[in-house]
Amino acid sequence: MKIRKNDTVLVIAGKDRGKKGKIRFAYPKDEKLIIEGVNFIKRHARATRQVRQAGIIEREAPLHISNVMFICDKCHRPTRIGSRFLEDGKKVRFCKACHEVID
Ligand SMILES: [Zn+2]
Repeated sequence: MKIRKNDTVLVIAGKDRGKKGKIRFAYPKDEKLIIEGVNFIKRHARATRQVRQAGIIEREAPLHISNVMFICDKCHRPTRIGSRFLEDGKKVRFCKACHEVID
């Protein structure tokens, strides 16, 4: 999976289309991401021993990777990520718009 934790992405599908956010968690196996401030769902919770307060809890639900686009923090454009090898053999990601190395 090319998108990782702490990357910034733009949501391109669904009810939060157009929102930007930082990746809080990535689930490479499911190709899903939890993005800060995006895709809130409401869950009704009953008071239990762990959760004293009953009521509605809002939390971010995972979004599939196909619904977001990576935003390059160098050129600030939504872009695709490529990968290449440095001279020392290290694999890095790069922005396909400005060709800057991302990490
Ligand atoms: Zn870029």
